[in-house]
Amino acid sequence: MAQETSRSIGPVILLGPPGAGKGTQAKRIEQHYHIPQISTGDILRQNVKTGTKLGRAAKAVMERGQLVPDELVCPMVAERLRDVDCERGFILDGFPRTAAQAGWLDAFLENEFFDKSNGCNRLPIVIRLDVDYNELLRRLTGRRSCPTCGRTYNVHLQPPKVDELCDVDGTKLIVREDDREEVIRERLNEFDQQTRPVADYYQAKGRLMTVNGDLPMDQVTAQIFCIIDNQV
Ligand code: AMP
Repeated sequence: MAQETSRSIGPVILLGPPGAGKGTQAKRIEQHYHIPQISTGDILRQNVKTGTKLGRAAKAVMERGQLVPDELVCPMVAERLRDVDCERGFILDGFPRTAAQAGWLDAFLENEFFDKSNGCNRLPIVIRLDVDYNELLRRLTGRRSCPTCGRTYNVHLQPPKVDELCDVDGTKLIVREDDREEVIRERLNEFDQQTRPVADYYQAKGRLMTVNGDLPMDQVTAQIFCIIDNQV
């Protein structure tokens, strides 16, 4: 498939519960259309790791599997979206997580993007990945990551070559703090209560597209590319 490097793609928003495959699909969109993936979870974890003021404020909330307050997350997203690599478009993975964040994003895009004549001035393409609840639990409890190089695996879907060891550097793989089963249930509850209104928000605006996330990964990717190509 030909890659896209010049035309404006616009914001792509991936919605779906933890474990729906947002991160994997976002990486594929990034590689194909050459627009950056912006994962609020990754940026927050990086801040926790390096002990910034934001990271210190977010750490305990994240460990409980709850949402970091909007007044911390929205300015963090704004700062990232102002970077020059976002001009042709960007992929949001993990944001917006609440209807309030969705409203904030619309206002931000209107104020900071839509008045640019040659920049990314399109409405967001909103794609929701739907996955069965039991399949989500299975995927999430199988997640492992390498504490040395950061590479991620799934013992069910993408296992390492040697059980529990990183393929790249042989380090023992770990379970992310918020992938423990009790935290997973909390994250899925949180998703139900807070994130569904985000889908409703975009549905009401006629901007919500749904893809069956239970399908094989490549089929999910093909459907997402089709949606993006048809809306550009
Ligand atoms: P994720 O990697 O997307 O599953 O996010 C991990 C954790 O980071 C979440 O459980 C939240 O605590 C926090 N987080 C990520 N994105 C957001 C967001 N948009 N709003 C609030 N908290 C977030």
